[in-house]
Amino acid sequence: MLNNSIYVIYGQDPHKMIGEVLSALQIEQTIPEDALIGIKPNLVVAKPSTSGATTSPLLVAGIIEYLESKGRNNIAILEGSWIGDRTARAFEVCGYTEIAHKYDVSLIDLQKDSYRLHQAESMEIAVCDAVIHLDYLINVPVLKGHCQTKITCALKNLKGCIPNSEKRRFHTLGLHKPIAYLNEIITTDLVVVDGMMGDLNFEEGGNPVQMDMILVGTDPVLIDSYVAELLGYAPEEIEYIKIAESIGVGNCVNQSTEIIELNPAHNRKNLAPTREIERLAQYVHELDACSACYGSLIRALARLDEQGLLRQIHEKTHIGQGYRGKSGKGIGVGSCTRDFDISIPGCPPTAKEIIQGLIDSMQQTTQR
Ligand code: SF4
Repeated sequence: MLNNSIYVIYGQDPHKMIGEVLSALQIEQTIPEDALIGIKPNLVVAKPSTSGATTSPLLVAGIIEYLESKGRNNIAILEGSWIGDRTARAFEVCGYTEIAHKYDVSLIDLQKDSYRLHQAESMEIAVCDAVIHLDYLINVPVLKGHCQTKITCALKNLKGCIPNSEKRRFHTLGLHKPIAYLNEIITTDLVVVDGMMGDLNFEEGGNPVQMDMILVGTDPVLIDSYVAELLGYAPEEIEYIKIAESIGVGNCVNQSTEIIELNPAHNRKNLAPTREIERLAQYVHELDACSACYGSLIRALARLDEQGLLRQIHEKTHIGQGYRGKSGKGIGVGSCTRDFDISIPGCPPTAKEIIQGLIDSMQQTTQR
């Protein structure tokens, strides 16, 4: 697997999807047989993954099943939920107690673990001992928005690997720098992003956006910079991504990055929209849109709303396979709308591409 590649698979069965990606990558070839493997999901709160806050237990079950089928049986699931919740409760509510029992893997509550100070450049950071003792770390974050850092994915997911007292201190330090430096101390070997239905704006969930995708890579900076674009941001807008790149944790997406899609994005959306998503959907004419495409558009509209630009859109945006081969006036999103007056290319496009396309079309309209 190349460090500068991201593998993407679309679908609605994360258990099956991750099995397909891991066998395509033959990931076991990079893991010694007796390695102690840690899986770090995002169980920030005790809410099921359908809330958009936490990692799907089906995805983690798929990872464990694959590893065990290749004789890698020394596996632990590790997490330390946020200060307002107990990890033990999150393990139970999110379905991880059941997984641990079924696959005979251990659950490690990092809120209760011992910890030690580690040096990263000019910073000392307390990190839980169980994480340091791992031979191989699989970081399994959720692709979602965050009210303070804009996005949260692989780099920020490691904040669950420090004691509660250190989490408090991270906030006093503004989050970005300590998150980046924490990733210098803890090496992620594999990132598996749960992009099935991460939240629109908040790490604690509430407005899940169905995207039906899983991303896999080895570089957490590369993954986070690509996820930033999927969520409608330029990587340089997320301070901790830039700091992490500057201290050598990894590299941001660049012209030679390969995005390898293992299948097309043609999954139908079936998630009932929340009130916030319905509000954004008022700006959309949708006809049989794939979930990843529609999710990108909703995230793009949310970003434009934050910038005060949404109210400048005076016509609905068209999206979906139902517009394929049809010419139409106005704006379309995705290659299915290529015969529209204005069409934003991509199949599916990222939220960042959609934002740029919509801003360009607004400027064209004002110039007319
Ligand atoms: S462009 Fe069309 S086919 Fe491609 S993801 Fe969007 S809706 Fe689906």
